Amino acid sequence: MLVSRVLEIGEAGPVAALQGFLAGLMQASGAPCLLAPAVVQPGVVSPQVMAAGADLSRVNPLLPLMHANAGAMLRATMEQATGFPVVAVLRPCEVRAAVELAKQGKLDLSKLILVGVDCLSTYDPDYWRRGNELHAGSPDWLVDEALALARTGQVRTDGYRLACELCDRPSADYRAADVLVGLVGVANQETILILADETRDARWRLQALTDRQATERETVDREVTLWRLGERRKEAAAARLESLGLADAYPGVIMGYMRKCTLCGECIDACPQWSEELRAAVGRGKEAFLQALLNATQRLASCSGCGMCQVHCPEGIPLSAIQRALSQQIQQRMHYIAGRDVHEPLPWSV
Ligand code: SF4
Ligand code: SF4
Ligand code: SF4
Repeated sequence: MLVSRVLEIGEAGPVAALQGFLAGLMQASGAPCLLAPAVVQPGVVSPQVMAAGADLSRVNPLLPLMHANAGAMLRATMEQATGFPVVAVLRPCEVRAAVELAKQGKLDLSKLILVGVDCLSTYDPDYWRRGNELHAGSPDWLVDEALALARTGQVRTDGYRLACELCDRPSADYRAADVLVGLVGVANQETILILADETRDARWRLQALTDRQATERETVDREVTLWRLGERRKEAAAARLESLGLADAYPGVIMGYMRKCTLCGECIDACPQWSEELRAAVGRGKEAFLQALLNATQRLASCSGCGMCQVHCPEGIPLSAIQRALSQQIQQRMHYIAGRDVHEPLPWSV
């Protein structure tokens, strides 16, 4: 059974409340380090590793900007960690990537505490830059805007990264993350929900790290709003794929978009799921790369939908939409939901 608790937001605001919770979780679990989104320069948030007792004031899991999939960084973090468990604060698509990597034997989830934060969506850097000129360079306006939309499960019609426009799973599954941070459908100007199953709740003494048990109404409001948000997103995603001519994932349309590809390989380096074969195919020319991409559709059942391939593509190819079109076909055919539960077997051979 999931235990739902409330973290009251004090005057210092939601980011400070979360920083305090994470410091407490590290202490309660004996974690030697934390991997979490941190502000490295204005407008740039990147997953950073911080040792226990370090200053967490740069940690900001709420700033809705994303430049890397932390799921992909977990392997390196685990190799360098001096002890376990490592606490990893992840967006839902990063949790999905971590689960899929674990299924491939590339990550040991027993050495991790996955903290899945409800996603506020992430924004196109240009939207952030334009808004910043109006808001005197403070990123707080974007956090405030995103939290207000999350409260009622609304979505913007512009400003998001394409991958987020197409994403209908704005929360990590409770079977995938160890601790969930609830923001969607929550009165998030005053409270944040912290959810975990009974065993984990007791093991990490979450009662002591939070302020009170959530009411049934608070828990249900989040569930209902997440469902509504997911439905809105599904509709929006279908319309967006249609507008890009990708609703049916015809190879000819995909080839058309890929005409601009220069074989730089940046998309592959940014992705937690690509295979070595695809990496090798880049070196054999465009025909081989495109053929390998289309042949890799089975593997795309594991696509987390993070869109980092597109973020890193210098040619601006809508890779998020191409991957979504391909992966949703294969996932539907295989009755598979990526990153939902580490105990569900992969539908393709490693
Ligand atoms: S792809 Fe989904 S989970 Fe990932 S940042 Fe965008 S909205 Fe959030
Ligand atoms: S293919 Fe793109 S969207 Fe899918 S996991 Fe890789 S980087 Fe993310
Ligand atoms: S990042 Fe873009 S240009 Fe580079 S290999 Fe990938 S699709 Fe081609």
